[in-house]
Amino acid sequence: MIDLRSDTVTKPDASMRACMAEAQVGDDVYGEDPTVNRLQAIAAEMIGTEDALFCSSGTQSNLLALLTHCGRGDEYIVGQTAHTYKYEAGGAAVLGSIQPQPLEFETDGTLDLGRVEAHIKPIDDHFAKTTLLCLENTQGGKVLPMNYMENAAQFVEQHQLKFHLDGARVFNAAVKLGIDAKDIAAPFDTISVCLSKGLGAPVGSILCGSRDMIKLARRWRKMLGGGMRQAGILAAAGIYALQNNIERLSVDHENASILADGLSSIDEIEISPDSASTNMVFVRTGKRGSGLSTFMMEHGILINGYDNLRLVTHLDVSRKDIERVIESFHAFFKA
Ligand SMILES: *Cc1c(COP(=O)(O)O)cnc(C)c1O
Repeated sequence: MIDLRSDTVTKPDASMRACMAEAQVGDDVYGEDPTVNRLQAIAAEMIGTEDALFCSSGTQSNLLALLTHCGRGDEYIVGQTAHTYKYEAGGAAVLGSIQPQPLEFETDGTLDLGRVEAHIKPIDDHFAKTTLLCLENTQGGKVLPMNYMENAAQFVEQHQLKFHLDGARVFNAAVKLGIDAKDIAAPFDTISVCLSKGLGAPVGSILCGSRDMIKLARRWRKMLGGGMRQAGILAAAGIYALQNNIERLSVDHENASILADGLSSIDEIEISPDSASTNMVFVRTGKRGSGLSTFMMEHGILINGYDNLRLVTHLDVSRKDIERVIESFHAFFKA
């Protein structure tokens, strides 16, 4: 099956599994798993922070950041469709008594800083205390412009806000811009990075930040039941992913681009202009798309829904697969 539903579907290959099988392990709750420690050191070095923490998922890693930055009755400003607001089961509110202030993303995936400013609450007994600004990069497959990031960094400094990046796909952004992930991460207090998306690890995310932040986050992780024992078996996959699967993200970006081009000649569908910035193509099919996912399934292709499709390229999708997907789309709309 060619699975375009998400880059989370990637499976560990033989070399990654070999690293997992050979991993040295210890009890990570005692800080004694050498492979977890090595992963955390490598990730901190790559993201440019003092320390890092291996987490069970990006949802957990983002939640740890929120719990670390915000107390009960504090508020974070976040995108209306941001993962840290919309797709984490309300964890910040449920588990942290932290209030979200969601704002619409601009079309380029940024949050307008003027609108953010207008939503910072005055210090007054009526209001929650605005403490944190969260950004996402990539956001809906889009790479945030670096000059925006610089402005946002100045903005949080000026307003004394903490600054968190949901960088689930920050390496896609870095590869796309041809820069170091460190340069994107630099202004943030904490950065969450997924190992289990395009990087191909089976499990895990990394939270990066200062030694003090990570120490606090580690305690919250334990409280949430995320203190894992011989987790080195999983961390070994993360190390392999960071050492082997970053540069090749450009192949996924190229495949997304070829896919968007190949579909653009089908009159019945509309390709979003944001498509193929990195590894995602967004397609609107309208009513003409009903039956599309069943048809695709019969042709060995998995997609999600029909009217508003998100097609995601990743390391288990080859150039040849992309050609087959394009052919199948044409076949469906010709019929
Ligand atoms: C996938 C994702 C996460 C984390 O997801 P998990 O499935 O919990 O690992 C966080 N933010 C963004 C933007 C994501 O796409």
